[in-house]
Amino acid sequence: MTDKTLISIVIPAYNEAVGIEHFYNSLSKVLANLKDYRFELIIVDDGSRDKTASVVRELAKKNPNIRFVCLSRNFGKEAATTAGIQVARGNAIITIDADGQHPVELIPTFIEHWRSGKKVIIGVRSSNEKEGFTKRVGSRWFYRMFNRVAGLKVIPGSTDYRLIDRAVQTEFLRMSEHNRITRVLIDWLGYERELIEFKARAREHGVASYDNKKLVQLAIDSLISHSSSPLYFASYLGILILPLSFVLGIALVGDALLGDPLNWNISGSAYVIVLMLALVGVLLISQGIIGLYLSQIQTEAKNRPLFVIDESRSIDA
Ligand code: UDP
Ligand code: MG
Repeated sequence: MTDKTLISIVIPAYNEAVGIEHFYNSLSKVLANLKDYRFELIIVDDGSRDKTASVVRELAKKNPNIRFVCLSRNFGKEAATTAGIQVARGNAIITIDADGQHPVELIPTFIEHWRSGKKVIIGVRSSNEKEGFTKRVGSRWFYRMFNRVAGLKVIPGSTDYRLIDRAVQTEFLRMSEHNRITRVLIDWLGYERELIEFKARAREHGVASYDNKKLVQLAIDSLISHSSSPLYFASYLGILILPLSFVLGIALVGDALLGDPLNWNISGSAYVIVLMLALVGVLLISQGIIGLYLSQIQTEAKNRPLFVIDESRSIDA
């Protein structure tokens, strides 16, 4: 019995009292068929304001394979997921939403791929009919831009429905930054990834906590925390403006010295404007220089590992 491989299932839950028992039941049905494994279900209550905690406690009384992690307040899904990954003891860890949007039927496929040697298996959402047009198009556009700006390869539609090997867990937990998105960090770690497509279902109960406003916030946050290119924007603008003001200034002075052959009729304020343009250029460039320092500080402050070794593909490392 005890020599079976242990697999952890991490389930962040915020205000899921209505649906979580139903979710638990369908999950249990799938797990019951996987006789070669033992499972621990780590349910993380992310400071729910409804009865989620007591519902889970009741479930845990009847099911010894449930481990209940109760956060002191709402820290957000990313923190809740990280908490679950941190306490997980399995050889593989599956993260899955508690709202029924991630089809539990895929778990056997996830495990199969893991058995065949993949370290990261990612559920990729092919479409979500109920999702609004803005959310769909917005996320596609965002991923494209994000990959370009951040120099990462985040797969569009990839979700937090994932399986990670214990080796990936260890590396993941070395990353201590606060502004985090679990799936982006896992992507940053690298490792061979396997993609599994699924159709996202509509949420079974309750309401999604990410509305459009929050998603835009999330997009901005993740862009800022993974890329410093926005910081360079000011200096690029300055580098553009400064030479322009020089050219204009020389033209103005030249024209005046030659007795206005082009009939420009230059007024005094034109000189002031050109001078101001030059000063703005200087200011923007200086701002960009501060940006360069800031971006270095940001990188250092994140304190990410310098590299990640994939032990299973190295020899005697
Ligand atoms: N969740 C959480 N903390 C939060 C918000 C959400 O743990 O502050 C959980 C939630 O219970 C669900 C998962 O994260 O299991 C995904 O949340 P949601 O369905 O609201 O997000 P979406 O499906 O829009 O990505
Ligand atoms: Mg959801």
